[in-house]
Amino acid sequence: MTVRTRFAPSPTGYLHVGGARTALFCYLYARKHGGQFVLRIEDTDLERSTAESVNAILEGMTWLGLDYDEGPFYQTQRFDRYNAVIEELLAKGLAYRCDCSKDRLEKLRVDQMAHKQKPRYDGHCRQRQIDPDAPHVIRFRNPADGVVIVDDLIRGRVPFANEELDDLIIRRTDGAPTYNLSVVVDDADMQITHVIRGDDHLNNTPRQINILRALGHEPPRYAHVPMILGDDGARLSKRHGAVSVISYRDQGYLPEALLNYLVRLGWSHGDQEIFSVEQMIDLFDIGDVNKSASAFNTDKLDWLNQQYLQHADPARIARLLSPHMGRLDIDPSTGPDLVEVVKAQAARAKTLTELAEISAFCYRDFDEFDEVSAKKHLRLVAREPLERVRAAFELMAYEDWTPEALKRAVERIAEELEVNMGKVAQPLRVAIVGRAASPGIDETLMLVGKDATLRRIDKALAYIATRG
Ligand code: GLU
Ligand code: ZN
Repeated sequence: MTVRTRFAPSPTGYLHVGGARTALFCYLYARKHGGQFVLRIEDTDLERSTAESVNAILEGMTWLGLDYDEGPFYQTQRFDRYNAVIEELLAKGLAYRCDCSKDRLEKLRVDQMAHKQKPRYDGHCRQRQIDPDAPHVIRFRNPADGVVIVDDLIRGRVPFANEELDDLIIRRTDGAPTYNLSVVVDDADMQITHVIRGDDHLNNTPRQINILRALGHEPPRYAHVPMILGDDGARLSKRHGAVSVISYRDQGYLPEALLNYLVRLGWSHGDQEIFSVEQMIDLFDIGDVNKSASAFNTDKLDWLNQQYLQHADPARIARLLSPHMGRLDIDPSTGPDLVEVVKAQAARAKTLTELAEISAFCYRDFDEFDEVSAKKHLRLVAREPLERVRAAFELMAYEDWTPEALKRAVERIAEELEVNMGKVAQPLRVAIVGRAASPGIDETLMLVGKDATLRRIDKALAYIATRG
């Protein structure tokens, strides 16, 4: 048997992190077993489904590198098929027409509530003959008794009594097939062997199993993935900041960091934190996912992103960083090679956005000194060291402006003044970068270049002068 999984989002919003994690699990399971991964767009809710949302989902999948082998299939293109199956169920007596009025159903509900019963359809039309040309819905004839066992790969055996499941509507009055019917037809037609999805669907599963069996199919295996909570314990939502996968991209997260983060949400392998996609495929097993919900933790995502920023190919990071520089109105071609900037700076930033911010000084003068850094380092005692380095730098030829020569120059001045290196390098750093944090002073000077270095030292000296 070839393993076949599917990710089946409804295009009623963007691809959020919960959906992305489900998609990742489906992807990993298929890859691990040499199977296929199918993408199916469940767009039957015509009012809520939008083309933008479909695009956002596809864009998110592509960005994360969750390649599917088949699809995207669109349910709206399969209505004929669903109707054919509904006709088949009707013909076999496995489904029936129901013309119960809203009033009747409402009265039934009120009565049941009054008797502390669970509201459910009472089977009123099961044996009635209803004119096919008059308005009606079609209901599935659910088995009246017995138990449906959902043998879930994550949750274990979950029994549902058929008594609790009423005869579900599979086609609405307007002729539209309902969610449970179309999912079942698709899962069977697409030969899905493993349904991995959010546990908000667990209650649908026994109904789907009954319909599948009525159609003569062996149900697939199911794995219901617990939901993701925000760090406050509530279900993860917009309130907790970014939940759309694409907004993580826009904030400067790397797709491999987000994937790594998502795979660890509710799953672990010893105390290993970093997983390449290959390792995930190798080590991940859907049966090892926690039963309980897991909480999203942005600090941990930041930590992972920093790890990946630091160890990824600098040329690739530079390409990804470029648009973030653009957002700061910086055109990286007007200054030092962005790849060199990445090499010097990548370990210092948690996101590409932050990396762009802390690298802006390589391309343009900053407006103001960071107050704390300036207070501490741009004091009267810094005047002489700064004047001396300025004089030394001015004499250097452009072609000698190398990290080695710059380092030697700074060291020599520290020796001459009989102070430690920091007494020269720190004021110099604040002068050049605007704050006390930057890569090594030699690299920093190198990236900024001679002209800007001299200009910024002058500015720092002027600042010191105003402090008196
Ligand atoms: N379309 C459903 C949703 O987005 C998922 C259905 C399924 O996976 O069976 O919630
Ligand atoms: Zn009825």
